[in-house]
Amino acid sequence: MDFAFTEDQQAIFEAVKEFCDEELKPKAQEVDEAGEYPWDNVRKMAELGLFGIPAPEEFGGLGFDFMTWTVVAEMLSSACTTSGAVFGAHMLAEYPIMAFGTDEQKQKYLSPLATGEKIGAFGLTEPGAGSDAGAVRTRATREGDDYLLNGTKLFITNGGDAEIYVIIANVQPERGARGITAFILEKGMPGFEFGRDERKMAYPALSNRELIFNDARVPAENILGRERRGFRVALDTLGMGRIGMAIGAVGLAQAAYEAAVEYAQVREQFGQKIADFQAVQFMLADMATKIEAARLLSYQAAWLKDQGREFEKQAAMAKVFASEACTWVCSKALQVHGGYGYTKEYPLERYYREAKLFEIVEGTSEIQRLVIANRVLKEAQQK
Ligand SMILES: Cc1cc2nc3c(=O)[nH]c(=O)nc-3n(C[C@H](O)[C@H](O)[C@H](O)COP(=O)(O)OP(=O)(O)OC[C@H]3O[C@@H](n4cnc5c(N)ncnc54)[C@H](O)[C@@H]3O)c2cc1C
Repeated sequence: MDFAFTEDQQAIFEAVKEFCDEELKPKAQEVDEAGEYPWDNVRKMAELGLFGIPAPEEFGGLGFDFMTWTVVAEMLSSACTTSGAVFGAHMLAEYPIMAFGTDEQKQKYLSPLATGEKIGAFGLTEPGAGSDAGAVRTRATREGDDYLLNGTKLFITNGGDAEIYVIIANVQPERGARGITAFILEKGMPGFEFGRDERKMAYPALSNRELIFNDARVPAENILGRERRGFRVALDTLGMGRIGMAIGAVGLAQAAYEAAVEYAQVREQFGQKIADFQAVQFMLADMATKIEAARLLSYQAAWLKDQGREFEKQAAMAKVFASEACTWVCSKALQVHGGYGYTKEYPLERYYREAKLFEIVEGTSEIQRLVIANRVLKEAQQK
C-alpha cells in the first residue's frame, strides 16, 4: 500500500484545509443551532469542485481517485459534521451513476452532480426494510415505456433538498432481492413527493425526509444497470458508502480529540494542568491510537477500491471500528472537559450526539460484523 500523495492531491488538500479552517469550522455551531440545510456551505463546496472529486473530467469532475475523496471527506467531517454528511450522502447518488450509468445517464445526471449544480440522494430504507435491504417493497410496475413506482422511503439524507435520486425499488417483491431494480428519479417527477422530515438527536440541519411514490412515472431509460440487477447496485453503493461513513467518523473523532488535547493543556486543577495527570494522558493516548487505527483501516479500504480489488470486508471493518472508536473518543473527550464538556459552551456535547449516527447508518455495527464474519468464514473454507 502506498499513501504518498501527488502534488495535485496536496494542492486540493491545502485548498480544502483553508476552506475548513476559514469557513466551515467557525460556523459549525451556528449551522447546528440554526437547524437549516447548510446551503451556503454546499454552494462553496461546489465552487471548489469537491462534489466531483472522483468523477471523470469529461463529466465535469476533477478525475481524482477515491483515496482523494476519502481524505477530503475526513477534513469536511472534522470541520462541520453536518456538511460532511451532505457530502457523503451526495456521493451515494453520484457513485452508482458513475459505476453503472450509461453514457446518456452520465451526461444527464452525473455532470450536474459532479459540478454540484444539483445535489443527490440515495433511497433504500423503508419502514419494513432497514438492515434487511432485500425486503424493499417499493413496487415498480412497467407501463409502456415507463415504470410506475409506488411506496415509501424514509430517513433519506438530503431528501427534499436533493434534485437527483437513486431509488431502490422492486419489480417483483415476491422474488425478494432478485426483483430489485435501481432507478434514477428527479425531484418534480409526477407522483414523486416528500413527506415527514425526521427530528433527530443530532444534525438538526440535515434533511432526512420521507420519499413518497404515488404512481411516480419514471422512464424505462432511467433504470440504473439492468432490471432485476439492482441489488448489486445497492450493495456496491453501500460498500463504497461505508468508506465514507468510516472516514466521517474519523474526522469527527479527530475534532473531539484535538479539543481535548487543547483543553487539557489549559485547564488547571490541584495546582497543575490536567494534562499532567496520567489518567488524562492515558485517555489522550488511547484516543490518538484508536483514531490512527481507524484512519488506516479507512485508507486501506479506499486504496483497495482504487486498485479495483475486493474492498467490502475492509470497508465493513473500517466502518465498524471507526464508528465505535468515534463514539468512544467523543465520550472521553467530553470527559476530559468535565462539566464544561456537558454545556453548550463547548462543541463536545454536540460531537457526542453526532457520533452515534455512524454506528447506525449504511448498515449498523451488527450488520458490519455479519459482513465481516461471512467473508472471514468463506476465506477459511477456501483454504
Ligand atoms: C440520520 C439518518 C440518515 C439516514 N440516511 C439514509 C439515506 O440517506 N438513505 C437510506 O436509504 N437510508 C438512510 N438511513 C437509514 C439507515 O441506513 C437505517 O436506519 C439502518 O440501515 C438501520 O435500519 P433500521 O433503522 O430499519 O434498523 P433495523 O434494521 O430495524 O435494526 C434494529 C436493530 O436490529 C439489529 N439487527 C437487524 N438485523 C440484524 C441481524 N440480521 N443480525 C443482528 N442484528 C440485527 C440492528 O443492528 C439494530 O440494532 C438513515 C438513517 C438515519 C437515522
